[in-house]
Amino acid sequence: MPERLVIIGSGPAGLTAAIYAARANMQPVLFEGFQSGGIPGGQLMITNMVENFPGFPEGIFGQQLMANMRQQAVNSGARLLTEDVLEIDLNSYPFKILSMSEEIYTADSVIVSSGATAKRLPLESEVKFWGRGISACAVCDGALPVFRNKELAVIGGGDTALEEAMHLTQFGSKVYIIHRRDEFRASKVMQKRVLTHPKISILWNKTVDEFLGETRLNGLRLKDTVTGEFSEIAVTGAFEAIGHQPNTSFLKGQLQKDEQGYIKTAPDSTKTSIEGLFAAGDVQDPHYRQAIVAAGSGCMAAIEAERWLQERAGI
Ligand code: NDP
Repeated sequence: MPERLVIIGSGPAGLTAAIYAARANMQPVLFEGFQSGGIPGGQLMITNMVENFPGFPEGIFGQQLMANMRQQAVNSGARLLTEDVLEIDLNSYPFKILSMSEEIYTADSVIVSSGATAKRLPLESEVKFWGRGISACAVCDGALPVFRNKELAVIGGGDTALEEAMHLTQFGSKVYIIHRRDEFRASKVMQKRVLTHPKISILWNKTVDEFLGETRLNGLRLKDTVTGEFSEIAVTGAFEAIGHQPNTSFLKGQLQKDEQGYIKTAPDSTKTSIEGLFAAGDVQDPHYRQAIVAAGSGCMAAIEAERWLQERAGI
């Protein structure tokens, strides 16, 4: 017998979908992943304190928040499998899902909530100071006490980098934007904001050559992309904003995506280009990338999957 609903991904979107679907008696099976696209639980597992998720006035550690959501999904009756999905066949119905244990599952409906992975600079020192001054999310981590009234840096020249820099001006004493070219990719309106902000200083034509420090980040060695010269700046926080990669490799091009690789969904809906397949969370969201938004879209996906199954069955 096919599963009624298979959910792929265990971030806020997938686990919220699992809670709603289980409570609607859909007996969902959720692949929480193993190593593909990051560890189970998603990007909050690599965040420190989460202070903007409603319901936790003192904040909550990202790992604790995800452990709570996971437990709630299990308590609601969802079945969690600690496996990666390797492949899904969307040309057959019920959909066929191949997991890493080489078992084939079949499903009447599927929610893809496999998230996105922040691109990171490939430096050993980046790994060393990750979570010790380096983050890929200023909105998540920027307000932490360690960054207050300190000099901070954002790396990148797109809208995310510029928005993160603006966000950080509320907390840091100064914010550098480090960009590898002499022209931003971001929208003109964002460019104007950062170029005129008194706390923001832009370092054009620079890449990070090394992250510096002892136990925590305390500086950056920069390389000029035009002259090749090296320089150093003292910062206690560095925020990488060099783009995200949606985790969709297991879909092997069977779904419509936008030009950046995010799954396309119908307006105000989680419906995708394939009937019975829904997408929720960061894998279909290039704009907000917030846990609370992902959780909301997971809820939408579960409700839409339930309605779709009912309509198909003529209920
Ligand atoms: P983008 O891909 O637009 O920008 C990434 C930036 O990082 C680019 O400036 C790029 O440089 C730089 N970069 C990439 N790789 C490296 C590297 N290895 N070393 C140094 N720099 C690097 O990603 P964003 O996340 O900024 O934006 C993604 C999409 O989301 C865009 O379409 C954006 O407009 C949209 N967005 C919209 C927002 C809004 O409307 N409010 C907010 C945030 C994002 P280079 O320019 O040289 O390629």
